[in-house]
Amino acid sequence: MSEKTARQPALFVGHGSPMNALADNAWTRALSALGERLERPRAVLCVSAHWLTRGDRVAGAERPRTIHDFAGFPEALYREEYPARGCPALAARVREALGPDCGVDAQRGFDHGAWTALKFLYPKADVPVVQLSVDAGGSARRRLEVGARLRALREEGVLIVGSGNVVHNLSRVDFSDRARPLDWALEFEAWVKERLRARDFDALAGDVGAAPSGRLAVPTTDHYDPMLYVLGAADETEVPRIEHEGVQNGSISMLSFSLGGALGAKITPAAGRNW
Ligand code: ZN
Repeated sequence: MSEKTARQPALFVGHGSPMNALADNAWTRALSALGERLERPRAVLCVSAHWLTRGDRVAGAERPRTIHDFAGFPEALYREEYPARGCPALAARVREALGPDCGVDAQRGFDHGAWTALKFLYPKADVPVVQLSVDAGGSARRRLEVGARLRALREEGVLIVGSGNVVHNLSRVDFSDRARPLDWALEFEAWVKERLRARDFDALAGDVGAAPSGRLAVPTTDHYDPMLYVLGAADETEVPRIEHEGVQNGSISMLSFSLGGALGAKITPAAGRNW
């Protein structure tokens, strides 16, 4: 452990149903443990499946509101608030890293892809959070490239968090208590894990429809894409570490992993840029 190594890890979290925000289950406990284990970041940069835009957009609000971007759930879920601060200076730093075509949205709040996971990672909401959108018009290759441009932020004490689901098929979802993981969902989740362990990020950014059960697992790429930003932010040696796995509601993989999470690197004030 070196004080010169200021690098924060990067995380991908599966978020699944918004109801996880009210749950106490293996996934919520895995995120809570992760939040306690990892060195506290200066800020979080979150790429969520629930903010899709044309081009890159970064959220620049000082006090982002909590967005309840779902319908038909119990009232208690709409009372949930995640009162973390934003960080306009970090938003400006992200724009510097991505270039002037990256727009700043000063009104954007936290969507549930972000806050339902962050409330377990940082339950006191005492780490500033900035969201970056998923460029829905971009390619998988470009998402890796954007992640690579964000890699330097890890050295500045920023925890990059991608939030989505590597298997996400709502047409096959089963919200009943009897729901069991579907075989094809487990098959594709296993394929992703193999590719992660082999650092075969090119395959993960390739034609996933050609992978085993790929068309069923990723019928649309919105929940898969946040993972690519995280993989792009990996250095040449980091091997993803599986933090949680398993399928909820039949067809939603909660696979979550970290990069560089075992380093326990110390952040020193000198290591941080003045954004
Ligand atoms: Zn979602």
